[in-house]
Amino acid sequence: MTTNHELFQRALARIPGGVNSPVRAFKSVGGEPFFTARADGAFLWDVEDKRYIDYVGSWGPMVVGHNHPHVRAAVERAIQNGLSFGTPCPAEVTMAETIAELVPSMEVVRMVNSGTEATMSAIRLARGATGRTRIVKFEGCYHGHGDAFLVKAGSGALTFGTPTSPGVPDALADLTLTLPYNDLEAAQKLFAEAGDTIAALIIEPVAGNMNCILPRPGYLAALRELCTRHGALLIFDEVMTGFRVALGGAQALYGITPDLTTFGKIIGGGMPVGAYGGRRDLMQQVAPAGPIYQAGTLSGNPVAMAAGLAMLDLIRVPGFHDELDRRTRLLTDTLQAAADEAGVPLSINRVCGMFGLFFTSGTVETYAQATACDVAAFNRFFQAMLQAGVYLAPSAFEAGFVSIAHTEQVIADTYQAARAAFVQAAAR
Ligand code: PMP
Repeated sequence: MTTNHELFQRALARIPGGVNSPVRAFKSVGGEPFFTARADGAFLWDVEDKRYIDYVGSWGPMVVGHNHPHVRAAVERAIQNGLSFGTPCPAEVTMAETIAELVPSMEVVRMVNSGTEATMSAIRLARGATGRTRIVKFEGCYHGHGDAFLVKAGSGALTFGTPTSPGVPDALADLTLTLPYNDLEAAQKLFAEAGDTIAALIIEPVAGNMNCILPRPGYLAALRELCTRHGALLIFDEVMTGFRVALGGAQALYGITPDLTTFGKIIGGGMPVGAYGGRRDLMQQVAPAGPIYQAGTLSGNPVAMAAGLAMLDLIRVPGFHDELDRRTRLLTDTLQAAADEAGVPLSINRVCGMFGLFFTSGTVETYAQATACDVAAFNRFFQAMLQAGVYLAPSAFEAGFVSIAHTEQVIADTYQAARAAFVQAAAR
């Protein structure tokens, strides 16, 4: 039998850091990653046949659990007809119509192959449409690895202490202005000084890449108003929150209409997919309808569309998000109870199927508070949970994801593992 260790040694020789996306490497939590052989429902099995309850869910897409038969069957049907055509295909049209139906601000939609492509394309459009060059993002928010976004970024960039990456030219980084999340005054000040030079403000409406931070009441509405007043576009990056925090995404949950929105993860059902879209007058400026260029050989390919549409079938069933919310609440309530029992200070943020564990006693609403938490305690907790067969995101700065396949039994098993793990987290 091939072991995880053997595979990682081989991977290290041929793949940077042994992984194709940084946070997978376990560098910040210590130890070596496991290599997944198969996945089903709430579980992953590694190549040594150890089973894990999975709270990463492929970093978000697996909201119905892994390897769902409906999604798998749709993919199996689609591949009978070929993998990619390079011509338009019917499923792309259905996908655009379905997204527009579920998220009314998405009047016109362009499919791409990742969240990174979606955000890069959205800001090109914002710059092209406004004739302005600056964009505003928030410290600790992650919008993929496009140059413009690797400035005070979250996710792996934050985990590995390089929120602003070498290789991003200063001339480009200078065009990215950053603000502290949930600080309205700072945004008002920036817009008062430079509002009419700003093409777009891009935000994760629930921040999921500096752990999980919810917008303060009224914050998103105030940003909407600021953008409108200064002629800047508001872009909601819903790559993580889309179809997860509510069927219509965070914009439905909080009642805000952005000008543009980016999606990824869930709409691909596990295939490499992203999308951007929004106001018709803006999207009609994208090539070939308009002059702002953006393209993709595999964009809208029939297999990815089939997976995404099957996923959307499953989550648009009435009551889906209420049940996901209930399961996640059950999880976070029991984790809080386990931490309290062990005397470990823990604060949990949660919105529908997304949650964040902070090793601190106070509430966490800002980047500064998130980064001040006890990362070493999280790392001890992570390792103890892993040992017990529960896989959390291998970083203190990533949100956790629950799926509808996380049954009450799975959550009860997680609680039992957590009781012991919090005791280990408390021990220095
Ligand atoms: N935006 C957000 C909010 C994300 O969470 C991510 C990925 N975690 C991205 C963009 C980039 O997506 P991808 O990894 O598919 O390029």
